[in-house]
Amino acid sequence: MLSADTLVRRRLLTTLEIPSTDLSHPWVLSWLSRQSSPFSGRGRGFRSHQLSVNTSVNKRESGVTDVEFKQVPGEGTHWIRYRGAWMQVRRERNERMIDVKSGTPWEKVSLTTLSRDRALFDIILQEAYDLGSKAIENKTMIYSAWGAEWRPLGPPRRKRELDSVVLAHGVKERIVEDIRTFMGRETWYADRGIPYRRGYLLSGPPGSGKSSFVQALAGSLSMDICILNLSERGQTDDKLSHLLINAPPRSIILLEDIDAAFNHRVQTSADGYQSAITFSGLLNALDGVGAAESRIVFMTTNHPQKLDAALIRPGRVDMHETLDDATPAQAKEMFERFYAGQEGVEEGAGRLGEMVRDRNVSMAALQGLFIVSAEGPDMALKLLKAMLEQERVP
Ligand code: ADP
Repeated sequence: MLSADTLVRRRLLTTLEIPSTDLSHPWVLSWLSRQSSPFSGRGRGFRSHQLSVNTSVNKRESGVTDVEFKQVPGEGTHWIRYRGAWMQVRRERNERMIDVKSGTPWEKVSLTTLSRDRALFDIILQEAYDLGSKAIENKTMIYSAWGAEWRPLGPPRRKRELDSVVLAHGVKERIVEDIRTFMGRETWYADRGIPYRRGYLLSGPPGSGKSSFVQALAGSLSMDICILNLSERGQTDDKLSHLLINAPPRSIILLEDIDAAFNHRVQTSADGYQSAITFSGLLNALDGVGAAESRIVFMTTNHPQKLDAALIRPGRVDMHETLDDATPAQAKEMFERFYAGQEGVEEGAGRLGEMVRDRNVSMAALQGLFIVSAEGPDMALKLLKAMLEQERVP
């Protein structure tokens, strides 16, 4: 026998369920965080007695960390009034059911309203989507490996301009041209039965712009980026293969420090923790990268001489470029970008170029120097001169 309550619910009410496995789940939670309950007054964030918090942490390049707390409805039942209609919001969680992909407990949000107001669900979903897509417009999402899966590393970040990464003449252009050609050749690959993927190797000393360049490139192609450092503890061959096959759509995979996989033995850190990516594991993972959609893999290394020929053969690495310490031309260009419009820039850039010639000054070190010399170009030149004399350039 159905209870009277159930009968009323079935006849008069309509419920929309949004499980946590659905793409719209975080958008709907965001949307809810902007609604206010009629019982607790207006204000920022969802108002109710049962709240939970969604925290996102965004570490900026300057090292400053932004934290955003969103108050969202907690587990249980809540009420909102939207466009004159009452809605019940229920958030349920089942600790015993684990979403195998994310490792988090399964949960769902249900919105219930009178059947005559059901059209509002479409409007809510559209508003939630608009909110979600606005958050990622002109942004690059950065994913990092979490066990065997990719998780967003903080909220989406503002795209980095390709122009802001200054490389030696021709390097950027060659890579951009190659990627654009690759992206336009989907059918060419399919017709020949070749996996639709392309591998790039960037070698060079730390601070030469390898990671920054890949991030800027992803932004310019409106792609996201999945970063994995192979020397991180706890990695295994199986996890690596799984990660490479299951990267989010339209993302570039960036494997940092691949030479770390060249220790054929298992690496054991000081605390006895083992990182067990092997060379053959890396090759298998690269070869297994899917054919279903385009896959672009960038690898970086500070020690190209350590790389085995098997890794850099076409199909695994199709293009190899070296990024190095600042050339006079690079130093000048970065200097001019930083101090654009200030007095004496042209002359200062020329002097800087001569100062860095054959001196192994990294682009990262120059950037650091310009940041602390915000008061003007002369200060940057003085500081660099003093550092070079004392051989203290980082
Ligand atoms: P790498 O990956 O080669 O170690 P990063 O890309 O992490 O270097 O660079 C470290 C910092 O130095 C970043 O903040 C970046 O903006 C700056 N930087 C390094 N190289 C360049 C470059 N070629 N052009 C502009 N900025 C650079």
